Amino acid sequence: MKIKSIRAVKKIAGKKVFLRADFNIPLKNGKVEDDFKIAASLPTIRFLLRYKCRVIIGTHLGRPLKQAGKKTGRQENKKEYSTKPIARRLGELLGRKVKFIDDCVGPKVREAASGMKEGEILMLENLRFYKEEKENDKEFARELASLADIYVNNAFAVSHRAHASVSAIKKYKPAYAGLLLENEVLSLKKILTPRKPLVVVIGGAKIKTKLPMLKKIRRNAGKVLVGGALANNFLSALGYEVGRSLVDEENIKLAKKIYSKYKFLGNKKIILPLDVVVSKRKDGGGKVSVKDIDKVNKSDVILDIGPRTIKLFSAFIKEARTIAWNGPMGKFESDHFRHGTLSIARVIAARSTGTAFGVVGGGETVEALKMTKMMDYVDWVSTGGGAMLAFLGGEKMPGLKGIAR
Ligand code: ADP
Ligand code: MG
Repeated sequence: MKIKSIRAVKKIAGKKVFLRADFNIPLKNGKVEDDFKIAASLPTIRFLLRYKCRVIIGTHLGRPLKQAGKKTGRQENKKEYSTKPIARRLGELLGRKVKFIDDCVGPKVREAASGMKEGEILMLENLRFYKEEKENDKEFARELASLADIYVNNAFAVSHRAHASVSAIKKYKPAYAGLLLENEVLSLKKILTPRKPLVVVIGGAKIKTKLPMLKKIRRNAGKVLVGGALANNFLSALGYEVGRSLVDEENIKLAKKIYSKYKFLGNKKIILPLDVVVSKRKDGGGKVSVKDIDKVNKSDVILDIGPRTIKLFSAFIKEARTIAWNGPMGKFESDHFRHGTLSIARVIAARSTGTAFGVVGGGETVEALKMTKMMDYVDWVSTGGGAMLAFLGGEKMPGLKGIAR
């Protein structure tokens, strides 16, 4: 893998940098709720500031145009999706002034960018206020690029998308990888060329996004431990009763297909739950019980893995030299159904400290890991969910093209 890192830029001092960050984070009442992604980008920003660069930061936040049902032009007055609170928090974390400007292209932005002094930081308004961002529009990309001398991509989480600020923009200015992006790629590479045994833990709900990864890693993986709603599809495909659990025909079909691909390898790599935690209600209310997988009946809803499964999965994780985890083992958002996910999270975190190389990624997965307060134990916590799966699945990564391959 060759990475064009910002560490290798010649004469970087004082340069004007367009930094594509991923600050797509939850806001509540105009305040940043979780600054994990901002914190992850600080080393890159500090690196640039050490060289007195002038740093122009662009990010997206949510889906402002989709929400407004508007397909064209600039989305006005969308306070809810403004990046202004992010600029404020970034300033607090850096202990420096971060100037905010309420647009990302146009004369106002050009003027602000051209007047910047060494070591100044300018944060642009939400890039997705323009439909051109998602359309990978060349003119839009050229205008963003024209603000700076060099372009730096640090937004791994959107690098599986062909969007203007991660893809087209690279044509117009020398392009580099930020430190965060570089670390993402180097860490995920270790899953693709693992120290063996590699144990993959996979759960959550969205099977479709996880299939390419399951296909790609099947030769290298020693074991693939499947939990969460994902496991329901596999169990159903194998003829088990899953009652009223979260499954659907399409996903059962996909599970069947991937299962047969694994079977073709001649050994039992896919490990499914032995027991589960069930409720009679989809919302998890009412009586909760633990059942062996062949005792689940038509009225049950599977919402977590059971204790025997936790033990079994843990035993495999404890043997691993490399671990990759994406997707909760159950509906961890409610108290009754988080034991599986949190237990597995703790074993992965503990094992990741020294003995195995551990990578954890995915929006909800990282949420769950955070609950254990063991996030720091894990070697690499990815800032990308979909992007991590795409990378591990060998899919196209337009945001990495030319800077990390
Ligand atoms: P990530 O965001 O980490 O990639 P996903 O988006 O694929 O993970 O899935 C996370 C969601 O899956 C969680 O909100 C969780 O509640 C849900 N989930 C996991 N297992 C189950 C289950 N057995 N039944 C219902 N929902 C589940
Ligand atoms: Mg998710």
